[in-house]
Amino acid sequence: MSDLNEFGVIQTFFKSAAPEGYIGVGDDCAVFPVRPGFQLAVSTDTLIEGQHFFTGADPATIGHKALAVGLSDLAAMGAKPTGCVLALALPSVNEVWLKAFSAEFIALASKARCPLLGGDTTRNPNGIVITVTVFGEVPIAHALRRDLALPNDDIWLTGTLGAPHLALNYLSGKVVVDEARLAQSRPLLERPEPPYAFAPALLEHAHAGIDISDGLLQDLSHLLKASQCGATLQWSKLPVHPALNNVNREVVKKAVLTGGDVFQLCFTAHANERAYLLALAAQENMQLSRIGTITTESDLVVLDENQTPLSLPEQGGFDHFSSEVL
Ligand code: ADP
Ligand code: MG
Repeated sequence: MSDLNEFGVIQTFFKSAAPEGYIGVGDDCAVFPVRPGFQLAVSTDTLIEGQHFFTGADPATIGHKALAVGLSDLAAMGAKPTGCVLALALPSVNEVWLKAFSAEFIALASKARCPLLGGDTTRNPNGIVITVTVFGEVPIAHALRRDLALPNDDIWLTGTLGAPHLALNYLSGKVVVDEARLAQSRPLLERPEPPYAFAPALLEHAHAGIDISDGLLQDLSHLLKASQCGATLQWSKLPVHPALNNVNREVVKKAVLTGGDVFQLCFTAHANERAYLLALAAQENMQLSRIGTITTESDLVVLDENQTPLSLPEQGGFDHFSSEVL
């Protein structure tokens, strides 16, 4: 049992020097500048023990992921991170847990230049609940939205698909573990690296964007609905993670098309932007794939190597209110 109280916890684990011109941890509010010509982008996400992470899960990976999900939302709007706040509800003060959690949270915050500026620390006997709110800046009226895709736009995707779904299946005991594949896929589930530095450079070049944390088909469908158009994807162009090499095709299909926890960005852009986007990706060392085209139809079609539509897996992406978890 720790003898740290709420203030001790904040002081020991979450207080760090605020950047010049900011008021950070220690006052009643965080105060930070918003540059002229920019708007504030805000997103909040909650992680609940037993629902979003296993009880007993490594606190270091939880610390990383708690912030990564917010950074993914900022990236999806093309917003550059400027700061975050953290509300933490804990059953007790476990210093070992707090040390690992806060170290990874703050490490990612510093890497992404998204300083921790405040929060709240409370007791919750029912388990750990973590709410992170992120702030970012985006030039006025230029945020990357879901509803501005245009027919004939290219559809682009950062990163790879399928690995988090595979790792989750192994870790939840749903399938027999293949140690080599687990080792390859697990970092993508536990330490997602959203394209927070890459996305702001897409403004002026991309039309619409969304992060695909609930699965490619489900999230791309949200974008299509908002933009009132359809899409054709090429199966052969989808960036399947190497951990899925030589796995049964139906399993790969499900992992790639519907697997969640992919904190990557799907966006659309005019074909004139291809050279710029490929050069930007090369410069930023970002895997970027052109996976399909926006159409005037109302549906989403995935074509196989022979340009025949694939039958798509029934189950969409992740939806809390229809999931088995609840
Ligand atoms: P208040 O009573 O005004 O809500 P608190 O006692 O909750 O203030 O918090 C004291 C300071 O510590 C505030 O600046 C708050 O933003 C910060 N803080 C509290 N919990 C956290 C946390 N988990 N991470 C970062 N900052 C925190
Ligand atoms: Mg408080």
